[in-house]
Amino acid sequence: MTGAKRMDIGFIGLGNMGFPMARRLIEAGHKLTVFDTQGQMVSRLTALGAVAATSPRDVADRVETVMASLPAPDVVHAVATGADGVIAGKKVKRFVDLSTTGSRMAVRIADALQQKGIVQVDCPVSGGVGGAEKGTLAVMVSCPKPDYEALKDALAVIGRLFFIGEKPGLAQTMKLCNNLLSATALAATSEAMVMGVKAGLDPSVMIDVINAGSGRNSASQDKFPRSILPGTFDFGFANGLMYKDLRLCLEEAEGMGVPMWVGSAVRLMFQLATVELGPEKDFTTVVQCVERWAGVEVRARKGER
Ligand code: NAD
Repeated sequence: MTGAKRMDIGFIGLGNMGFPMARRLIEAGHKLTVFDTQGQMVSRLTALGAVAATSPRDVADRVETVMASLPAPDVVHAVATGADGVIAGKKVKRFVDLSTTGSRMAVRIADALQQKGIVQVDCPVSGGVGGAEKGTLAVMVSCPKPDYEALKDALAVIGRLFFIGEKPGLAQTMKLCNNLLSATALAATSEAMVMGVKAGLDPSVMIDVINAGSGRNSASQDKFPRSILPGTFDFGFANGLMYKDLRLCLEEAEGMGVPMWVGSAVRLMFQLATVELGPEKDFTTVVQCVERWAGVEVRARKGER
C-alpha cells in the first residue's frame, strides 16, 4: 500500500460483486472480517487471508467500518437493523452499503442506525463484475463529509469515487438513474438486433456498425459482444436484480411525480424475463424474450467472434 491507511473492514455479502470488491481490499493491504449466509463464499475469502465471522452482529462487534453488498433492500434492512444485525454490534461506527436499495430504504436504514450512533454511508456502485474485478467501478457516495474523508482511500481500491452529497439516499437515486439507462439500452438494443437478424443482417456486422455510429451504447459495446453474440449469457447480473432496480426506480419516480413512459416499458421487459426465464438467469437473456416472439436468434455466425 502506498501511503494510504490500512483499515480493519467488515464485509457482508460475498457474491458476484462482493467477492471481487473484498478481494481487492485484501490485496490493497486492508484486514477483512467477512460474513455470507453461504459458507463457500466465506471460504473463498478466508483462503485469501480474511477472517470469518458468524453473523452481521459478529462482524460489527469486531470492526468500526462494515461494508455490505447484498441482493435486495429487505435483506440489507435485516442485515443492518435486525436482532442479529450490524446495529447490535459493539464496535461499529459506520455501515457502508454498496448494494442497490433505492433511496427510501437508505433513509429508513440511516434513521434506524442513527439511533445507535452508527452512520449509514450510501455507496452503490456501477460497472458490473468486470469493473469490480478491475477496480474501475463508478462508486457513488452520500454521507457526512468526515465519513467520506475517512473512507475514501479504501473505496478508491474498488473504483472511481463520486461524492454525491450528504443527504441520505442521494447516491441511491443516482444509481437508479444509471441503471434505468443501462436496462433501457439493453432492452432497446435487443429489439433492434432481433429485427436486423430477421431481415437477414449479420449480427456481428450490425454491432460493428452501431458502435461506429450514433446508436452506440453500453449494450452494443459490452453486453452483445461479450455475452449475447457468443451465446454465453454470463455478464454477471441477474434478471431479478435488474427488475428490482427498475421497480425501485419507477416507484421513486412516481413518488416524485416524474413520468417514465419508456422506463415503464423497460420494467415490463425485465419482469417478463424474470418470470419467463428466471430471476437467477443473467440479465442479458432479456434478448431471448424478443427472439422467441420473432423466431430468430442473435448469435455470431460460425467462425466469427
Ligand atoms: P449476488 O446474489 O451475486 O450476491 C449477494 C450475496 O449476498 C450472496 O453471496 C448471498 O449469499 C449473500 N447474502 C444473501 N443474504 C444474505 C444475508 N442475510 N447475510 C449475508 N449474506 C447474504 O448479488 P450481486 O450481483 O453481487 O449484487 C449485490 C448487490 O450489488 C445488489 O444490490 C445489486 O443490485 C448490486 N449491483 C450488482 C451489480 C452486478 O453487475 N452484479 C452491479 C452493480 C450493483
